[in-house]
Amino acid sequence: MASIEENTQKLEIIRDETLALKQSPLYTYRTENGYFPVIGEGSVVADIMFVGEAPGETEAKTGRPFCGRSGKLFDELLASIGMDRAKVYITNLVKDRPPGNRDPELAEIALYAPFLERQIDIIQPRVIATLGRHSMKFIFERYGLSSELKTVSKIHGMTFQTQAPYGPVTVVALYHPAFALYNGSMKKVLVEDFKALEKYT
Ligand code: URA
Repeated sequence: MASIEENTQKLEIIRDETLALKQSPLYTYRTENGYFPVIGEGSVVADIMFVGEAPGETEAKTGRPFCGRSGKLFDELLASIGMDRAKVYITNLVKDRPPGNRDPELAEIALYAPFLERQIDIIQPRVIATLGRHSMKFIFERYGLSSELKTVSKIHGMTFQTQAPYGPVTVVALYHPAFALYNGSMKKVLVEDFKALEKYT
């Protein structure tokens, strides 16, 4: 069983490598804007890992995941099931902000995904909750759930059992919280779907 110190050190190596990732197509955009890569935050021995898509502007300015408008909603969703943000780990598929919050491109996903895989292997969560379609697609395909992959609208709130290199893992597909910022009725759906995580609090 890995210790907090060991995991923290391993995650710091990922932070340093990401900071130095000059070959990233997003590197110039990061440096020109004084942005930071967003590696992740929370418990380094968390049972639940949330995987979003890519940092937005507030996240890139602060280096913290889900701390802008969708982060506020995400915090409300955590609170709705009595989950403490400090007890989970929150990260993204792509660690640097894509210009204008556009969708991450395939080359960007290919470049950053190995960092996410390493984070998963270090933290070894029992549950991986994906927030959005890109992170869902990546996690399903990478962890043996390709045959279950459908649109988020079809599988949101559902749980899937699979195997990670370190053992069994439950994957939960969730809508991205930003959806509810533009469509009020989506919040109810997200609140309902978050209940799938309640038993892991
Ligand atoms: N959206 C994401 O997918 N991730 C963040 O960190 C913030 C907004």
